[in-house]
Amino acid sequence: MFNLSRYFSTLSLALILVAGGVLGYFYYSLSVAQLVAMAEDRNVAMTQVFRNTLWPRYGEFLRREGARDAGSLRNAPETARLHAEVTAQMRDTEVVKAKVYNRAGLTVYSSDARQIGEDKGANAGFRRALGGHAASELTHRNSFDAFEGALSDLDLISSYVPIRGEGGAIEGVFELYQDVTPFLAYLRQTLWWIAGGVLAILGLLYLAQFAVVRRAHAILDRQESELQDANRDLDARVRLRTRELEEANRSLEGEVAERRAAESRLDHLARHDPLTGLPNRFAFDEKLDAAIRRAEQGGGQLAVLFIDLDRFKAINDSLGHAVGDELLRLAAGRLARQMQPADVVARPGGDEFVCLVEGVHGIPETQAIVAEMLAQFGPPFLVGDNDLMLSATVGASLFPGDGRTVDALVRNAETAMYRAKAAGPNASRFYEPEMTAYATERLRLERQLRRSIVEGGLRLDYQPQVDGPTGRLIGAEALARWTCEELGPVSPARFIPIAEETGIIVDLGEWVLREACRQLAAWDLEGFRLPKVSVNVSVRQVERPDILDRVGAILAETGLTADRLELEITESVIMAVDETLSVLEKLRRMGIRLAVDDFGTGYSSLSYLKMLPIGRVKIDRAFVAGIGRSPGDEAIIRTVVTLARSLGLELIAEGVETPAQAEFLAHAGCVALQGYLHGRPLPAGAFRESWATRDAA
Ligand code: C2E
Ligand code: MG
Ligand code: MG
Repeated sequence: MFNLSRYFSTLSLALILVAGGVLGYFYYSLSVAQLVAMAEDRNVAMTQVFRNTLWPRYGEFLRREGARDAGSLRNAPETARLHAEVTAQMRDTEVVKAKVYNRAGLTVYSSDARQIGEDKGANAGFRRALGGHAASELTHRNSFDAFEGALSDLDLISSYVPIRGEGGAIEGVFELYQDVTPFLAYLRQTLWWIAGGVLAILGLLYLAQFAVVRRAHAILDRQESELQDANRDLDARVRLRTRELEEANRSLEGEVAERRAAESRLDHLARHDPLTGLPNRFAFDEKLDAAIRRAEQGGGQLAVLFIDLDRFKAINDSLGHAVGDELLRLAAGRLARQMQPADVVARPGGDEFVCLVEGVHGIPETQAIVAEMLAQFGPPFLVGDNDLMLSATVGASLFPGDGRTVDALVRNAETAMYRAKAAGPNASRFYEPEMTAYATERLRLERQLRRSIVEGGLRLDYQPQVDGPTGRLIGAEALARWTCEELGPVSPARFIPIAEETGIIVDLGEWVLREACRQLAAWDLEGFRLPKVSVNVSVRQVERPDILDRVGAILAETGLTADRLELEITESVIMAVDETLSVLEKLRRMGIRLAVDDFGTGYSSLSYLKMLPIGRVKIDRAFVAGIGRSPGDEAIIRTVVTLARSLGLELIAEGVETPAQAEFLAHAGCVALQGYLHGRPLPAGAFRESWATRDAA
């Protein structure tokens, strides 16, 4: 750091010395100048005295003698007299020598006689005096010849003063030497004192300043070190704070990233189905909306496919939700795999999927896509240990023909899907405007059906079940018949699916069960004894936790014994193994017989039958219809018969229309028959009439 005190001391010392020197010099010069001026004034006064007293008497002589030689001038008696008078006049004054020059510069008188005759015409002082002005100078002489004799070490002021005559003209020059040695000695002494005093004061000032500067320097030093400390401290703090901020920043970044991840998870959850990871209905609608706008601008077509898994509910109910969930995931995977990246497969809920296919060109192309989609479901799905067969039903709508909005397109695709459902599993339909009418009609049917159950618009037909070889009546199947107030008779193929979908089937089924049991008990009382009645039971009914109570209550209510009731369950019920198994078991223990309806059309593996408390297998009429025409169907019938026998199950074939079919079945080993060959379903009265006599016969 800049050393303040050192620089200050050096500089101020130098300045003080210079100032002291300059001050001293000026003081001395001024004093000398004053001294000279004073001496000159005195010399001028002395000259005036000389001029007034001696010049009138000796002036003439001196002017005149100027032309003579020096020796004679020196020895002249006037010179001796003049000398005596001058010496007397100068006594007790400071004047130590006096000289007189004539206008030519010749020394005409000198108190030192040896100098008489000397020429001073070239002297500057003389020339100046000749010009009318006095001129003085201070000189120092080591030795000097004064009036009193030889003197040594003298400080002298010599003045050349003009001597003016009466008219004021300059007639000569007077030179006086004044001894100022004591003055000068005194002057020098005071100068030393003053210089000493000034130096002492300046020295004190210097010391005071030095002390102040030292102190300031120390303060500055301390402040600097404090500043450095503070700086270091600040540095450390800044570093620490920076680290803290960096850490905070890092953790903030972490938080931000976490929040972003959470937000994107949330967004994903909000827009995706958590089970399959596919977009949900909301996201699908958005994408469809965007696609519609694109198609509107580009003039393209797009297809909305509504996909519903067949029998999924049965699988879910029978094998459990874990299996159901896995199956949905696998199905979603297959659907997604088949689609193009630009297409969207979404799961709005349940066992339904919707699919958006952009850039299609008409129905044939879309049909191919749908066929491909259905084919995806060909290979079985492996879930745990189960090899599950699954199919789907697809309904399709096209933009712009089948609708120009998200709602219209999805609704119409769904309508088409329901229509396809009616055509059986693994089917597809394209939307047609009349389907909307159908859907509307469905709604009407549903309302009417509910009313009919309450108001008694339903009745039962009975179709005989016969022992082939003897033609004896062994039982009858009760089949629901409904005549709608507005639409007239409606086939079960139409209203049963609606009842199943809407849940109406539970009440409907209970009514059928009660009515069939009541009818049998009534016939008993009338003396017409039908050995037993078969009642169709929907999976929805079996699902109900109070099924056993309801059946028990109906039997108790009607007084029919359990062994005369057979419940026909489809394979979808059989698939509901988990919980339904115990229900079926209990029904069987109650004495009720169980039959598998439409056997062979579903997907249940034959091995299931072993586990189930089944009494009878009902060969579906589709196989019976194939007798004589389809070796495959015939083979199936033989296999089913063999299997049922090996399992100790009874058999019955339905849909037997011809004697040939009856004969084939008898040959194969199935003797119980149901079909138009032995009788169409008939109302109770007609049935009894038809069979009371025949049975009697
Ligand atoms: P399903 O249980 O297989 O009933 C047999 C169906 O085959 C009846 O049709 C019957 O009329 C018909 N059928 C009988 N013999 C022949 C024949 O020789 N040839 C032909 N082509 N068909 C014959 P329906 O009455 O129209 O019933 C259709 C289905 O509706 C039934 O099939 C059954 O699954 C369901 N269903 C009917 N009533 C009820 C009911 O009360 N409850 C439940 N859950 N389902 C019912
Ligand atoms: Mg049936
Ligand atoms: Mg059947």
